[in-house]
Amino acid sequence: MNSKILPSETDNDTSIVERGFVFAVIILPFVGLIYAIVALCRQGVPIFYPLLAFFLYVATGLGITIGFHRLFTHESFKTHASFKLLFAILGAMAVQGRLIEWCARHHHHHQETDTEEDPSSYPSSRTVVNVK
Ligand SMILES: [Zn+2]
Repeated sequence: MNSKILPSETDNDTSIVERGFVFAVIILPFVGLIYAIVALCRQGVPIFYPLLAFFLYVATGLGITIGFHRLFTHESFKTHASFKLLFAILGAMAVQGRLIEWCARHHHHHQETDTEEDPSSYPSSRTVVNVK
């Protein structure tokens, strides 16, 4: 097992590129969400659409946390096949990749937590944007 500590745990100076990347992927979508909510309220959107969006947000989140993570990856509990199908569909609606690939990546994450080999850690050699 690779026990190398990630650069982010030892480096205190963050480059301007890293700050820009974090701003782009974390801050901007949140600002866009707030802008969209304000714009929708000003135009008098029926309450159905925000409620539907919130319901789908929660349902797909449960599809990932309960379905992909606890049920399919860790087999933490057993349930009827119809609920397995429901959680698989809701998890797929979260657009985090195929179920089998999500489970494999998450197993790898648990095996290599806090190392360069962890596919869920940042920064990693597997990130889409290599900022180093
Ligand atoms: Zn896990």
